Amino acid sequence: MPDTVTLVTALILECPLCMLCLRDKTGLTSEQVGFALGFIESVLKVRREQRGRCQACGVSGLVISSERPTRASGWTAPPEGLPLQREVRRLIEENGELLQRLAAASREIERLQTKVVELSRQRRLA
Ligand SMILES: [Zn+2]
Repeated sequence: MPDTVTLVTALILECPLCMLCLRDKTGLTSEQVGFALGFIESVLKVRREQRGRCQACGVSGLVISSERPTRASGWTAPPEGLPLQREVRRLIEENGELLQRLAAASREIERLQTKVVELSRQRRLA
């Protein structure tokens, strides 16, 4: 899910956010956000502050942010003069439609999963 990773990276880059805002802003499920964070952590330093403040909704609690990568982390820096955040945002804009379709698909999967649970419960009762 490289697009998901890109989106989550752009959101938390030097901007602490709570999990709810991360879900709202990406349209992803907690599992998908968690997966993306796991991937990001393999490349960037991800900071989890238990008593932080979300930059989006202002709620105090667990917030997640990432630090700008250093060369030592093995990350290939974007071209000179182009800040990483702008580069990531450009990628998101280019893949906006794809990200929306991904979010819609994941919501559809969740809806179907709920339906399956409901149906199997009904069958057990019948
Ligand atoms: Zn928040």
